Amino acid sequence: MDNERNDNYNNNSAPDKPPRMKLNLGTVLLIILGVGIFVPMIANMISGSSGNNAISYSTFKNELRNSNVAMITVQEERITGTFKRSPTTGLASDTGSLSFITYLPSYGDTELSSLLEEQGVRVYTKPINRNSLLAIILNLLPFLLLLFILYSFYRGSKNQGNSIFSVGQNKAKLYRKTTESTTFADVAGVEGAKEELQEIVSFLKTPELFQKMGAKTPRGVLLVGPPGTGKTLLARAIAGEADAPFYSITGSDFMELFVGVGASRVRNLFRDARKHTPSIIFIDELDSIGRHRGAGLGGGHDEREQTLNQLLSELDGFEQNESTIVVAATNRPDILDPALLRPGRFDRQITVDRPTVSERTEILKIHARNKPFTPSVDLEQVARATPGFSGADLENLLNESALIAARKKKSIIEQDDLDDAQDKILLGLVRKSLVLTDEERKTVAYHEAGHAVTAAFLPNAEPVHKVTIIPHDRSMGVTQQLPEGDKYLFNREYILDRIAVTLGGRAAEELQMGTVTSGAENDLKQATKLAKKMVLDWGMSDKLGTIALGSDREHVFLGEEIAHRREFSEETARDIDAEIRKILKTAFERAKNLLNEKKESVVAVADALIEREELLGKDIRRILGLPEETKEE
Ligand code: ADP
Ligand code: ZN
Repeated sequence: MDNERNDNYNNNSAPDKPPRMKLNLGTVLLIILGVGIFVPMIANMISGSSGNNAISYSTFKNELRNSNVAMITVQEERITGTFKRSPTTGLASDTGSLSFITYLPSYGDTELSSLLEEQGVRVYTKPINRNSLLAIILNLLPFLLLLFILYSFYRGSKNQGNSIFSVGQNKAKLYRKTTESTTFADVAGVEGAKEELQEIVSFLKTPELFQKMGAKTPRGVLLVGPPGTGKTLLARAIAGEADAPFYSITGSDFMELFVGVGASRVRNLFRDARKHTPSIIFIDELDSIGRHRGAGLGGGHDEREQTLNQLLSELDGFEQNESTIVVAATNRPDILDPALLRPGRFDRQITVDRPTVSERTEILKIHARNKPFTPSVDLEQVARATPGFSGADLENLLNESALIAARKKKSIIEQDDLDDAQDKILLGLVRKSLVLTDEERKTVAYHEAGHAVTAAFLPNAEPVHKVTIIPHDRSMGVTQQLPEGDKYLFNREYILDRIAVTLGGRAAEELQMGTVTSGAENDLKQATKLAKKMVLDWGMSDKLGTIALGSDREHVFLGEEIAHRREFSEETARDIDAEIRKILKTAFERAKNLLNEKKESVVAVADALIEREELLGKDIRRILGLPEETKEE
């Protein structure tokens, strides 16, 4: 046996001691299996030491009737005894032995006792075999086994911290600083957040400097923003910049089946992190434990409240000179327990928003670094086409384009792969199996031409980026418009034009085909939604004036139905309906009049679509006789 000391156990045992056996699940299973198979076998051998004197019960009865049985000993169902002379039938033994063994049938034998008396057989009885050593061992065996398994698990847990006994110990992963660790350079955009976090980094690097000045040191930072905007990435970057260990955990990881486990996890996590200062604790989804206490239906949630209380007391328990920073992320700061936001706790909030056009370009550049793109790809154009995308979405988009290129067995990613990836994500996959009739294709072409032409000529509409009548997952055809920059404020004219463009598809169907189809369902929904918002939320209706009639339609715990109280009268409701209808009707008429005027343009675009299936913005402008890149004023 190999006597080398195993360094994994840095115990101080003498070097000549053999290494401790490491028990893993496989070994334990093997032992159980072995015991399970061999012990019954041995037991059988001992108790069944009757050799080959076993006879059938009927033989025994026959011999009994023939007055050939001298004596028997009965112990439970086991009958041993001796014959007077060699039996005539059935005895397997030819050794001349007169002893035999047989077993009483389980259905019993009522006539046996009278038969025994009749024949004058000496009958001995023995008590039930309870206290033989073998029986004791057999009875104790399961307990011994269980004890043994528990003990080995316990030993395992001491060694690896990874067993059934580690319930309640923290699940946090410790990321030691490595050379390729994340830095602020890996995070694009979010300049404001980076600037604020820079202060935290310098505190972690040189805490003395801050303490000398008597400055109150930062403790908790709350990163607020939608998912995928780089909150985790930022927290990692702090750790990377400060060369500090990074402990991260997700709020829901604290929650266990057992009350009190979450609290003990919090305790352990903080204890570990404070042992390795300067360090960063990152809690993702803080809202899952940090919800307002006492909120929610059906009373409080004991486990969550205990966990939250523990977290609060850990935050308060920091000494002034301790340099552990707690960073938490959430996208619902509004539902957090106010106690969490008090001074000395998460008193700094940093907003991490969805990236703007230029930030999207930066993020794309970062993630394009390690992918073989052709130098000519236009990441700026991708950024312009993806308003509302988060950093994670953009990363996914680039990844998708790499997959598409790989599928085509290319060694380099080109613009059309990027375009395909964009289409796939924005529009769903191309539906290859769907075959339209010529008539249907014509209808779809006119419908899309309607959108395109209204978008091209209405003064406040966004320019057309691409029109396609290739069926995709979510629609028969698509007209994609491309804003020049991100918009956060929308004026009335813009929204009205937008509604008109949305309804332009149906208007063209009506004008050109003389009928309408079901294909405009989505358009109608969208237009209605916009009109509703104009009247209810944005105070943009003449009749109802500047008033917000829509109450906050979202509620954390209650369904929308219950929470959405109507705050206006029947009469106002009727006015609202009338206003919405008026907005939609006017917009539809505007689209229809415009398309009627530009009849030839619509036909030309539709014909080109039928022929080529897909047109880019510049193709459309050429067909319409508009100058490149600028719209008719
Ligand atoms: P969150 O924690 O806000 O949900 P993550 O930090 O987990 O988001 O972001 C997921 C991934 O998206 C990151 O690993 C990163 O690759 C990418 N990402 C998000 N935002 C950015 C950004 N501003 N710069 C670079 N990459 C980003
Ligand atoms: Zn449409």
